[in-house]
Amino acid sequence: MEYPKVVVFDLDYTLWPCWCDTHISPPLRSKSTDVVVDKYGYELSFYKDVGDIFQDLQANGVLIVSASRTCAPAVAKKLLKLLHLNGEPAINHLDHMEWGTHSKKKHIARALEQFEEDIKFEDVILFDDEVRNKDVESIGCLFAHISNEKVGLNKIIYERALGEWRKKNKKRTKKSN
Ligand SMILES: [Mg+2]
Repeated sequence: MEYPKVVVFDLDYTLWPCWCDTHISPPLRSKSTDVVVDKYGYELSFYKDVGDIFQDLQANGVLIVSASRTCAPAVAKKLLKLLHLNGEPAINHLDHMEWGTHSKKKHIARALEQFEEDIKFEDVILFDDEVRNKDVESIGCLFAHISNEKVGLNKIIYERALGEWRKKNKKRTKKSN
């Protein structure tokens, strides 16, 4: 099975069910490797399929990037350090992180510059809950919408996006041959 070269994940309401600059108040502490507790006892975990999805991407050599517009990157980073995925802090699974209030097109362009290999926008999928970020399709990335904040990123959305990407990729490689 073909895989894209890079998968980019938004954080808030894509990987976890909150806005970390609004709902989370430091200091943060680990309740377990899966649960973080904030100052007021608010508990946060990743959506449940995130670990399996990361594992599948890594097993298939896909680079994993996070791209967030959060106003609290320090809080987000702390969460990524405290919350574990597949036995390791989540941050260790990320090949690159992008922050800032600008467009996800810019996030993605800047992320690709970090990698030695020449990666095309067509080889990137962005998973994100905000429809406005669908603008990444104008540069050739595939946009996968996370539509339900209760469920977040799950295997159904993931598999569907991979399927869609494979279809597009097939057409693309046919054209270039
Ligand atoms: Mg979001």
